Amino acid sequence: MLFIKSKAITFFISGILFISLCLAVFNFGAHPYFQNWKKEKVLITEVKTEKKAVSLTFDDGPDPINTPVVLDNLKKHNAKATFFVMGSRAEKYPDILKRIASEGHEIGNHSYSHVDFNHKDNKFLLNEIERTNAIIYQITRQKPSLFRPPGGYLSYALVELTKDKDITIAYWTYKQDSKDWRGVRANQIANHIIKNIEPGQIIILHDGTPNGLETAKAVDILVEKLSNDGYEFVTMSELIRIGNEE
Ligand SMILES: [Zn+2]
Repeated sequence: MLFIKSKAITFFISGILFISLCLAVFNFGAHPYFQNWKKEKVLITEVKTEKKAVSLTFDDGPDPINTPVVLDNLKKHNAKATFFVMGSRAEKYPDILKRIASEGHEIGNHSYSHVDFNHKDNKFLLNEIERTNAIIYQITRQKPSLFRPPGGYLSYALVELTKDKDITIAYWTYKQDSKDWRGVRANQIANHIIKNIEPGQIIILHDGTPNGLETAKAVDILVEKLSNDGYEFVTMSELIRIGNEE
């Protein structure tokens, strides 16, 4: 009897733990102030609009193999996107960065080195952001107004820093995270996004990870299908502008 009871209690407790874990993940759990920053619009996860417009965003590039294929597929469907590049890679592949810009896409800042921002001081964070912005500006003459922290890192210090610089923290729409970087096949990535699509979403993808060619293929599939359904693919800054208009 006692045994059954303790088993039931263990089951109950693990159930609660599981549910709270899910809730934490669902709310991004990244920071207790997350929802407030969203309200203040210093951090954006989606935009409120009736218009069938969404943003595709690509992280961790530029990559010499994957990024050109992503660009070809965007061009094929006349879709615009935002590329959150790493400063160290932008420096290494300036021609790809130039191509991204010249084809009408937006370039966002995804830090210089993509190291873990935990336990780093303000000077370090600021340098990661400013150094990358300077590289992007030097190569493309685009001045990034969006910063996507590596690993989704958030802290009061980081938010103050970006506020000061008039930079918006570019998060993404949680339910549109297909985890494409985890070796998911193109069809699965595309289906996840097609199934969950709603106006105003910011869709996170990765051109800079080893699975990037599957991601590129997924772009071809999903943009074709959703364009036929009346969706328009715009840069993140354009999506924010659309949201402010309504
Ligand atoms: Zn990243």
